[in-house]
Amino acid sequence: MTFEGGEGAGKSTQIRLLAERLRANGYEVTVTREPGGSSGAEAVRHVILSGAAEEFGVRMEAILFAAARNDHVEELIKPALAAGTVVLCDRFMDSSRVYQGVTGNLPHDFVANLERVAINGTIPDCTIIFDLPAEMGLARARKRLDAIDSEAAPDRFEKEELETHKTRREAFLDIAAAEPFRCRVVDASGEVEAIADAVFRIVEPMLPI
Ligand code: C5P
Repeated sequence: MTFEGGEGAGKSTQIRLLAERLRANGYEVTVTREPGGSSGAEAVRHVILSGAAEEFGVRMEAILFAAARNDHVEELIKPALAAGTVVLCDRFMDSSRVYQGVTGNLPHDFVANLERVAINGTIPDCTIIFDLPAEMGLARARKRLDAIDSEAAPDRFEKEELETHKTRREAFLDIAAAEPFRCRVVDASGEVEAIADAVFRIVEPMLPI
């Protein structure tokens, strides 16, 4: 299962709560995230999210994301699925479609070809898209940043315009509309516990018996 959404959507909190609930119900759970997840992919994450990536250009960046995703799929996700665990992944291919494809302005074919190579057949059985107004997501993301370190320089992704965040929100909703069997949209603007309940209601019927 994968979890998607813009900044400040509360993905990581919800993934943690879902993992706790699944484990309490006797499931073995693997929690992972992108970019990163395997040691090779974590090294790529470090490069992509650092200032060094400023000069890469969006094509190179998309290829790096794809390289990291392929390593993550082959080294961590496939073995975890084969071992029978429920895999919860924070961001996956839809983030590339949205961040590199839509707001990165890359051609659809380029992004689709990278996706095919990167995931190598491992399509999520369920993708939960956390949806909330861009203003709210940005405000939450800034609050979180302040709480971590008031001196911290903003992540380069957090310096972007509100318009970009709005475009991404629409792009995630477009994916959900185009693939209704795989994707489910959850309103992420409410209370943490209510969102966790909504997520569990979606996930429960999909779990192996
Ligand atoms: O999930 P999280 O918000 O921590 O992701 C880290 C950053 O990586 C985000 O700020 C997001 O903008 C960026 N990202 C991206 N393209 C992806 C995945 C993540 O630009 N395919």
